Amino acid sequence: MNNIALAQTNRTFDVEAARRQFPILARMVHGKPLAYLDNGASAQRAQSVIDAVDDYERRHHANIHRGVHTLSEEATSMYESARDRIARFINARSRNEIIFLRGTTEAINLVAQSYARPILRPGDEVLITHLEHHANIATLVVAPMDAHGEVHLDAVVSLMNARTKILACAHVSNALGTILPVRRMVAAAKARGITTLIDGAQAISHMSVDVQELGCDFYAFSGHKMYGPTGVGVLYGREQLLDRMPPWQGGGEMILSVTFAKTTYNALPNKFEAGTPNISGGIGLGAAVDFLSGMDLDGARAHEDALLQHATATLNKIHGLRIVGTAPEKASLVSFVVAGVHPHDLGTILDEDGIAVRTGHHCAMPVMDFFKLPATARASFAFYNTFDEIDRLKSGIERARKMFA
Ligand code: PMP
Repeated sequence: MNNIALAQTNRTFDVEAARRQFPILARMVHGKPLAYLDNGASAQRAQSVIDAVDDYERRHHANIHRGVHTLSEEATSMYESARDRIARFINARSRNEIIFLRGTTEAINLVAQSYARPILRPGDEVLITHLEHHANIATLVVAPMDAHGEVHLDAVVSLMNARTKILACAHVSNALGTILPVRRMVAAAKARGITTLIDGAQAISHMSVDVQELGCDFYAFSGHKMYGPTGVGVLYGREQLLDRMPPWQGGGEMILSVTFAKTTYNALPNKFEAGTPNISGGIGLGAAVDFLSGMDLDGARAHEDALLQHATATLNKIHGLRIVGTAPEKASLVSFVVAGVHPHDLGTILDEDGIAVRTGHHCAMPVMDFFKLPATARASFAFYNTFDEIDRLKSGIERARKMFA
């Protein structure tokens, strides 16, 4: 991309102002400024998220829901208000559709245990795609991808039949960055009475997610990939379905009344939130949603796109480097391999330059098998990354190449 195009895409977004909101970005690593390019694994926390958690811990902590004392009421209202803001953020119809869990993995497990297990019969099929994260793998029919890592709508639709009960797929691939045509996939599934579960772990920080517009039945995401805390995430589920599903864990909060003869389950959303939850995590996630809602998201996304273009062009200039995943619709991440340098060695050498990338199979071994690779290196960008960091990545990769030449 030339400078004029870059200038145009960046016109409205102030990266330095965005960076100042993230204290960790001022860190040095091995004497070099940190270039944090591992946002797909976990994004960094904004100061406002850190402050919200800190304020809760210092001033408001108590167990929630059953307390009559002041701190418990404050903690409850902070936690439940986070749920309201998250519901608005993804345009859920009701706060009852927002289940707080540990993250995407647990959200998908809840659907598997509480929705899928009771309804699936021998011969029924769960349709997934070739690029799924391990969090999303069960008894399966697998829609193919092409050599670019693209999943085509017609390939998915052609595998839908009377046995297909669930379509479960990623919104964005963590290994390749491919954006799937989820809205159209969901529409095709819906027309055939197939329930849909979308793994939004990699999408939620890169695009506006409107669950009503997507039309999906379930949508899962993690707090830590959207500038919020670890250990908290959300399962969005259509209220009608959640209502019919049995609780998946027993304990406090999921029960309304209990005698030895009969247990009555609590209403949504508490039915699925047994025991004391991650209260500070939920409050931190609420703050992350406020942070995102308050920022120039269009500008941020244009900047992320420009980073992807710049990274693609820059890395493609490196001799022996191959980008893995070249679908036309991609989120801002680049997976790559460099001839003669194992990704793990590359990751270690880049770390010496203060550059954090992820190396490995990215919990998507079928993707690695498809490309006949044991692993890739992956640089995944957030709106706070800069073109300079990508240029440093290029220099670091070239240094590694020389070391192994
Ligand atoms: N799905 C995808 C596409 C992911 O990228 C990840 C995280 N790598 C997960 C699921 C699992 O998320 P978590 O570890 O937060 O549960």
